[in-house]
Amino acid sequence: MDFQKLVELYEELEKISSGNSMREILADFLKRVPPEDVPIISYLTLGQIASPYEGIVMGMADKSVLKAIATAGGTDLSKVTKIMHETGDAGLTAEKVLQKKPQTLVPLGKVTIHELFEKLHKIASSTGTGSQDTKMNILASLLQKSTPAGAKYIIKITLGTLRMGVGDMTVLDALAIAFTSDKKNKELLEARYNICPDLGIIAQTLIKDGLKGIDKIDIHVGTPIKMMLAQRIEELEEVAKKMPGKVTVEAKYDGERIQAHKDKKGKITLFSRNLDTITDQFPDLVEYLEKQIDAKEFVLEGEVIAIDAQGKPLPFQTLMQRRRKYDIKEFREKIPVQLKVFDLLYLNGKSYLDVPYYQRSAQLEKIIQVGKHLSLTDRKITDDIEEMNEFFQKMLQSGYEGMIIKSRAEDSVYQAGTRGWNWIKWKKEYAKDLSDTFDLVIIGAYHGQGNRSGKYGAVLCASYNEKENLFETVCKVGTGLTDELLEELPKKLAKYKTDKKPARVVIKKEMEPNIWFEPKIVIEVLAAEITKSPYHTCATGLALRFPRFVHFRDDKKAEQATTSNEIEKMAKKK
Ligand code: ATP
Repeated sequence: MDFQKLVELYEELEKISSGNSMREILADFLKRVPPEDVPIISYLTLGQIASPYEGIVMGMADKSVLKAIATAGGTDLSKVTKIMHETGDAGLTAEKVLQKKPQTLVPLGKVTIHELFEKLHKIASSTGTGSQDTKMNILASLLQKSTPAGAKYIIKITLGTLRMGVGDMTVLDALAIAFTSDKKNKELLEARYNICPDLGIIAQTLIKDGLKGIDKIDIHVGTPIKMMLAQRIEELEEVAKKMPGKVTVEAKYDGERIQAHKDKKGKITLFSRNLDTITDQFPDLVEYLEKQIDAKEFVLEGEVIAIDAQGKPLPFQTLMQRRRKYDIKEFREKIPVQLKVFDLLYLNGKSYLDVPYYQRSAQLEKIIQVGKHLSLTDRKITDDIEEMNEFFQKMLQSGYEGMIIKSRAEDSVYQAGTRGWNWIKWKKEYAKDLSDTFDLVIIGAYHGQGNRSGKYGAVLCASYNEKENLFETVCKVGTGLTDELLEELPKKLAKYKTDKKPARVVIKKEMEPNIWFEPKIVIEVLAAEITKSPYHTCATGLALRFPRFVHFRDDKKAEQATTSNEIEKMAKKK
């Protein structure tokens, strides 16, 4: 299929902000294209050339991109750089330059989506000396064959800045509408997507083998599984209602969730909560897992924390220093870590997703050899609230965040990608009954005044409405932003600046910020209470009072922020 057809679709999608219309338009388009093109279209529409867990990066320097645009437009680099300064966006620059292209330069044919896909993969895979030139030449040849609008989208895909407001859920919806008899089948697709989060595979299986094929999709060692999450409660006593009988209470560590896969060949891959491949960051963990887990193949989960020389836990911020591409050896020594293992999802050819938690954890205990850097979570089995509270207090004294209460019932399966009632979190903020933390997405900023003039005065934050796939404003955060943070924030947010309200953001006029951002950056915010507000759009108009910035949640995606529904539930209970 000709890429230009996709360009026309993207131009149409960019004009609308309703999620419903987006999925209908996309579904209608998918019905009309050759079926074999659907997987590629699914990736490209999200601005990707593969599933994010594959960690494929284009690795193009800004200068090489501008050079490619200059070459394709038959002009010189200085002119392109000037336009880039004016527009602030490389995609728009490409469009403008190609519109001004000398008439003598005729387009060199057309780009098909297959050619585009293949060449973008070539760009990603060329590494080493001279690779910037190779990448630049491939990109220039693609741009030479495309229309100005096509060039804009090619650049945006290359730089990872294509943001039309289409998320993976929109694509799943569109697939269900286009290729099954009922749009409700999206739930089936989503359930399998949670186990195999690769839209290309889902699209291909659906087209080839229908829903029967989808049903057969199982754990594929080496492909991350979307992680199970915990519910919150307001009073510890609620546990007895939600989880009758004995439960396992485990320490809640303030670290980073890790899903570790070992395949038949013995290769170990580590995934973050966002399903990014982070194996290279933790060569030490790979060694511990190799030595201390007695299994040919496994998928297990744990929380990695930083520890001091005595093995005591260190704060989350210390661990975040291990999130790096360089100096890994040095930081491995400087900041030793420990993996607290808590779940088993797969073992030697068998999926454990549908096995109750007590059996999963019993099996885990059999295959782990406990040591200083790899151990099971601190835990206790009980059905007594007093004992739970005692355990909780002990965990706080040990420097942990709280506890996770886990069901041991027969239906306590691993609920991939779901915030279900098989896990309940109980943190120190809840117990004090004073405040709570929320993970919110920055969608805008206001200019500062007085001693913050020239900087941001506050950022506008939103919760996630997962039903509608929207971001709803819930508070402005200015407190807690130190001078260093005020320096760091604009740099961190620059990539996501947009000149108009992003598609999925719902906002009241009164709250409109001076600067808009695509919903990407997640921060943890501590707030004293939830109140009704005519100015915010979270749930039925809820806002957080006295919000304070705590830290960045770089391990979370926008869609993993606290949901409006959770905030509504908390508000009702208070
Ligand atoms: P929070 O922001 O409260 O840390 P979260 O939104 O990241 O939580 P939740 O589902 O609320 O995620 O809490 C579960 C998280 O707690 C897991 O993703 C994991 O990273 C962490 N965790 C720490 N200890 C445990 C444990 N023993 N069992 C399960 N998860 C644990």
